[in-house]
Amino acid sequence: MVSRSRLSRLIDAPPHRRCFGALAILEVALVVLALASTPLAPAALAPAGLAWIGGVAGWTLVEYLLHRFAFHLPRAHPLSRLGARQHLDHHDAPDRPPITKPLHLTLPAIGVASTAAWLVGPIALAVVSGLVGGYLAYELLHVAAHVLPEDHPFPALQRGHLAHHRDARAWFGITSPVWDHVMGTAGPPPCHRPRR
Ligand SMILES: [Zn+2]
Ligand SMILES: [Zn+2]
Repeated sequence: MVSRSRLSRLIDAPPHRRCFGALAILEVALVVLALASTPLAPAALAPAGLAWIGGVAGWTLVEYLLHRFAFHLPRAHPLSRLGARQHLDHHDAPDRPPITKPLHLTLPAIGVASTAAWLVGPIALAVVSGLVGGYLAYELLHVAAHVLPEDHPFPALQRGHLAHHRDARAWFGITSPVWDHVMGTAGPPPCHRPRR
């Protein structure tokens, strides 16, 4: 069982609260906007629902590529301010907040993607709402991997990420291990301990 104090540690840090809150509001707003611009008929709602699921699934690849190729750039790289420095700080002190990505980096990117999708149409909006839903799951699972004990329903995902902290050449996926297997970065099977 996940204790109440463990659960409160999951959201207690103000940056985590702000991140979860902002992404949850954005996700609801994007889903409502996508539904509002889709005719309320099964023939129109089914493709929008599939587009949302496609967005969530697509997020797992976006997450893998960002983590592997953008967040592990050297600190001296000109693009390291776009997430790599914060991520390398996280590797130096894995349990110290903020574990979530800075909103000043993520919100503009979501704003640009949402505006472009709104201009394209409801299916594109449904895809972007799925991507944002996947991103919210990423932030929740990432923080959970660092603060929860291993007796919760998703220990395999947690062990994979903690294995990445022991060897940063493997296990880049947080919401899914699929792309690590496809891209050859699965590494040795993640084990229970140590918790870093
Ligand atoms: Zn981590
Ligand atoms: Zn990493």
